[in-house]
Amino acid sequence: TLTERLAGTLDRIRGKGRLTEESVRETLREVRVALLEADVALPVVRQFIQDIEGKAVGQEVLGSLTPGQALIKLVHDELVELMGAANEALDLKAQPPVVVLLAGLQGAGKTTTTAKLGRYLREREGKRVMVVSCDVYRPAAIDQLRTVAGQAGVDFHPSDATQRPVDIARDALAAARKNLVDVLLVDTAGRLHIDEEMMEEVRAIHGQVQPHETLFVVDSMTGQDAANTAQAFDQALSLTGVILTKTDGDSRGGAALSVRQVTGKPIKFLGAGEKIDALQPFHPERVASRILGMGDVLSLVEEVQQKVDRGKAEKLARKMRKGNRFDLEDFRSQLEQMQNMGGLGSLAEKLPGMSQLAPQMKAQMDDRSTAHMIAIINAMTPQERRFPDIIRGSRKKRIAQGSGLQIQTVNRLLKQHAQMQKMMKKLGGGGASKMMKKLSK
Ligand code: GDP
Ligand code: MG
Repeated sequence: TLTERLAGTLDRIRGKGRLTEESVRETLREVRVALLEADVALPVVRQFIQDIEGKAVGQEVLGSLTPGQALIKLVHDELVELMGAANEALDLKAQPPVVVLLAGLQGAGKTTTTAKLGRYLREREGKRVMVVSCDVYRPAAIDQLRTVAGQAGVDFHPSDATQRPVDIARDALAAARKNLVDVLLVDTAGRLHIDEEMMEEVRAIHGQVQPHETLFVVDSMTGQDAANTAQAFDQALSLTGVILTKTDGDSRGGAALSVRQVTGKPIKFLGAGEKIDALQPFHPERVASRILGMGDVLSLVEEVQQKVDRGKAEKLARKMRKGNRFDLEDFRSQLEQMQNMGGLGSLAEKLPGMSQLAPQMKAQMDDRSTAHMIAIINAMTPQERRFPDIIRGSRKKRIAQGSGLQIQTVNRLLKQHAQMQKMMKKLGGGGASKMMKKLSK
């Protein structure tokens, strides 16, 4: 399994006092194989290894750790980042009934998850929940939801297989309003493969009930395919999150890594069994630690990190990364140049290997003017521009105030910059100028 493979690899370096460049490379080769065997998509693995390699060079900043420990910490941090930095709960802050739509392929676990989620929201958050099935294709689908809704103790809105799915959804929403329901969970039909008719239908339902959350339910055993399917659904529906099911049977764990990376959408819950209570909020930090089996090492690393002199670390990092950097100052001059070139989304489209990320970046970029992004960067200190990593809570607030924009916008900019940085790294030295050349073609 991924866990065992990684644990074995890391065990071997854990005790070592010194790591040569060669042994770092060798270790990462093994990590790479382990990830591929875990069915993580190849581009994701490449990126992952590349990021770690890039960062491993700067490891001396953690002087009092052995290089082995430092490398483990790096692998861990990258895993966490890959899966999304923190748990993102369901966003239910809206005028009730808040509609949550569940979509995905047949057999993914939508119906089961609808009931599990209903129970979770009722028990943990005290919500009044109603569920409805829009699956008019499988004769037993509606009954199946009725049964599990009963187990979950949530309201069930009866539907019948002669109705149009979009009408069912509309009726259910009306009933939810009438019954003062807090959350309406809409279960939909899936097919065995992505097909246009299914997408049309679920899009219509989506348009009818305007869900506040649109969750993609995906069987974690489908591995690499999970990422492709997720992307297709995201394009059709603008997903707000993902629920990974059947993680109890998944020894490989690749899906979690790939889905997140490809769609950029947070994994919100894990299904881990057939029972009604087998649903857990997804915590990347915990999953990564479990994968690496390294609670102790982590706390040691954190302790050491706190003692490291920030200034010294920055100086070193600057030296290390020179030539392969793309800081916010660079980002700003790019933005200025790009102001008249159609924005970053279309830029991403033109770059080799970035086509997967392009729709996501486009969606993030198009509704925000480049001018805002430049204003935010202007509101930073030169040091912050050079080392965006130091921008935490209070600094963000100050920058937001300084630029007259929201903290969320600052966050978004930082995220976009991080993505750009990755792209630059992919393009290698002189990435920025190469990119500009590509653009002007
Ligand atoms: P749908 O077609 O997407 O609605 O999928 P269902 O909810 O009908 O689930 C398909 C099968 O997967 C059922 O047998 C479920 O019991 C099973 N299932 C769903 N979630 C999980 C899970 O987290 N773990 C396990 N082991 N089985 C699950
Ligand atoms: Mg179903």
